[in-house]
Amino acid sequence: ISVEEFVAKTLDRISQVESKVHAFISVDNTGALAKAKEIDKKIKAKEKTGILFGMPIAIKDNICTAGLKTTCASKILENFVSPYDATVISRLKSQDAIIIGKANLDEFAMGSTTEHSYFGPSKNPWNTDYVPGGSSGGSGVAVSAKECLASLGSDTGGSVRSPASFCSVVGLKPTYGLISRYGLVSYSNSIEQVGPMARTVEDIGLVLNIISGHDPHDDTTVNNPPVDYVKDIKTGISGKKIGIISQMIGQGVDKQVESATKRAISKLESLGAQCIPISLDAIQHSVAAYYTIASAEASSNLARYDNLRYGFDFGTEGYEFKAYVAKVRSNFGPEVTRRMLLGAFVLSAGYYGKYYLKAQKVRAMIKSQLDHAFKQVDFLISPTMPILPFKIGEKIDDPLKMYLTDINTITANLSGIPAISVPFEISTEGLPIGMQLFANSFEEKKLLQAAYALQ
Ligand code: GLN
Repeated sequence: ISVEEFVAKTLDRISQVESKVHAFISVDNTGALAKAKEIDKKIKAKEKTGILFGMPIAIKDNICTAGLKTTCASKILENFVSPYDATVISRLKSQDAIIIGKANLDEFAMGSTTEHSYFGPSKNPWNTDYVPGGSSGGSGVAVSAKECLASLGSDTGGSVRSPASFCSVVGLKPTYGLISRYGLVSYSNSIEQVGPMARTVEDIGLVLNIISGHDPHDDTTVNNPPVDYVKDIKTGISGKKIGIISQMIGQGVDKQVESATKRAISKLESLGAQCIPISLDAIQHSVAAYYTIASAEASSNLARYDNLRYGFDFGTEGYEFKAYVAKVRSNFGPEVTRRMLLGAFVLSAGYYGKYYLKAQKVRAMIKSQLDHAFKQVDFLISPTMPILPFKIGEKIDDPLKMYLTDINTITANLSGIPAISVPFEISTEGLPIGMQLFANSFEEKKLLQAAYALQ
């Protein structure tokens, strides 16, 4: 079939399932079909097409796309249209991928369930009463419900891997510095990365080949020689050493998740890997450190939404300054407000040393314990999420409970190392369980080979 027919079929599928799962904030019917026609023309004229030609890709709505709205699922940016493409978007476009729509998320990527979206929650395609994970819930749902072939999310503390695990798809949080953040709306810029989601590890490699690499617009990207992440993906893991992170199995872990982890370990052993327990005791402080650092950076990053540079009109005439600021900023949702207050507090004079600085010390401890671990093993393994997907609304009123669900994912963000979630089993209730593998910084090639073996 032609690319246009394929894209039209994808758009049909989206219109059939969206009322059930709500993966998208906006779908670009016109743009997607126009791009498809352009590719068909190229094919007819025997011109060279890009590597991702005709591949419908959903984009988390905190990644800037020229001409389309980028809302961050916030009322504050409800009508914001970016004047430029994020680097990841221009790279996808240059390889003839089709940007099919903008995917739902927790407001400004703050959350673990996609319930904190101004546009309403996304639903888990495996059971629509359940959360799909988050914050890149829409990106996970869109891939799982076959509304696209791949998607991009952003992962600050697990936002790609949590929905990958809960929706039974593959999701990668790359090494900090591997992928450009230019055009990603900042939440906590010192720890977050854009990450691909897809139904297979191979597709993750395919997208990674295109979006990774140095970008002069983002000085935190490294200038490493290019790597082909798909080539040799079937190498296997025979002879590799894998560390089982003791702090991530056992206490607080759902029984079915725990037994699935044991089966994952047996599978890796049967493929020739050697698994040994590894203790990383700094992890006991990781949730506290993560929420301190992420909130501190959020409070600074979100200061720009002042209704001057970004915002929307309301009759501003006659407001005294403080009342004006209060009125503008009352448009953030409760979770974002909570993070900004917490962030301003931990950075304030008198408390900076007590909280923020301590959190940075924990971050350094985690990194040094990981450096030590990677002298002994090639990979680390844990369940991606300690619990099964839960019902929509179940934890929404208990932020602390919600924060604790991130315990297994945030280690990779605080230390910068790559981590991938692969679908592993389905629970007795029919809910997905994902496994997480970690590798040392910039070892994505090796990591994808291990994930390929485990999937
Ligand atoms: N759940 C975490 C948070 O709310 C992670 C979010 C993310 O990775 N963007 O901060």
